[in-house]
Amino acid sequence: MSGLGELLFDRIRREGPLPVEEYMRLCLAHPEHGYYRSQTAIGAAGDFITAPEISQIFGELVGLWAAALWTQMGRPSPLRLVELGPGRGTLMADALRAVARVAGGFRAALDLHLVEINPGLRQQQHAALAAAQPSWHDRLDTVPPGPLIVIANEFFDALPVRQIVRAGDGWHERVVACRDGRLAFAAGASTASPDIAADAGAVLETSPAGEAWMQGIAARIVAHGGGALVVDYGPAVRAPGDTLQAVRGHQPVSPLEEPGLCDLTAHVDFTGLAAAGRAAGAAAFGPIPQSAFLRRLGIAARAATLLQAATPDQARVLEGSVRRLIEPAEMGTLFKALAVASPDVGTPPGFDAQT
Ligand code: SAH
Repeated sequence: MSGLGELLFDRIRREGPLPVEEYMRLCLAHPEHGYYRSQTAIGAAGDFITAPEISQIFGELVGLWAAALWTQMGRPSPLRLVELGPGRGTLMADALRAVARVAGGFRAALDLHLVEINPGLRQQQHAALAAAQPSWHDRLDTVPPGPLIVIANEFFDALPVRQIVRAGDGWHERVVACRDGRLAFAAGASTASPDIAADAGAVLETSPAGEAWMQGIAARIVAHGGGALVVDYGPAVRAPGDTLQAVRGHQPVSPLEEPGLCDLTAHVDFTGLAAAGRAAGAAAFGPIPQSAFLRRLGIAARAATLLQAATPDQARVLEGSVRRLIEPAEMGTLFKALAVASPDVGTPPGFDAQT
């Protein structure tokens, strides 16, 4: 068992089962052994790959989205451009390159802030983005006040979810217990019943941590003006289902095996995030499928431009990566984009059904 596995095993034996939410929080963010503290495994050679690592077009279009939103905001300067969980810095590097070319004034107004808890990834971000002189933060609170645009790609799926499980006598907290010398899921204390029909054994997930992040983002946006873009995977409407999943080296593994050494994620509850944004006074848009979002921002035209200068081999790679981003069976449908904005900004680019 991993080092964290042994710690958790001892703790559960001493203190009793851990709620899934606490288990996931420790697996991801334990100060010493948490996956996002100690592993830097994004990319083809790591555990998982993300949209900006698949194609440069993803970050370029997100950059242009931010530049267009800034124009709708009345071109404030400085503009805090905040990325949550920037990974290897690829999205932001592509975004900055794209806006330097086309959106005069935006690049000069930018003040870049990166929220990241992983020291190894901070180093990679430094290597990719040093010219833009970013500041790093553990939390959003320390980003200086002022008009802001927040970008979060595959950030919210890395936050812990709470699970409750339906038993014959109602809903219970879902917990991680010790059984036969191993970690195992179990039903814990009974809990308030949500207003949702479900059979025995059904699992319902909510994301108190995700909603708290969104509440903080939306409160800032409402106070200072701006918007946020969340791209991640999950259903458009909350539905029962256990989506906790672990991957290591691109292979699915049990979420209870090797805690801290594999990436642990859950589908994002867009219903809950949009509601948290609205409760803080922001307007919420979407979620819409990633394919619709990228098409409306012009993925086809950008791909066509890049294809003109591509060798046949490069063209094959480019076409394959664009398909991967937008095909329904790949990332096009499961991945979604949600925006929140201060009420005065209007509809963010790509979220108007008419465009
Ligand atoms: N956005 C990047 C990386 C996604 S992986 C991409 O699309 O490639 C999730 C990112 O969020 C990583 O950079 C991880 O270190 C960071 N992260 C995870 N939990 C975090 C937390 N609680 N606070 C800040 N950053 C976190």
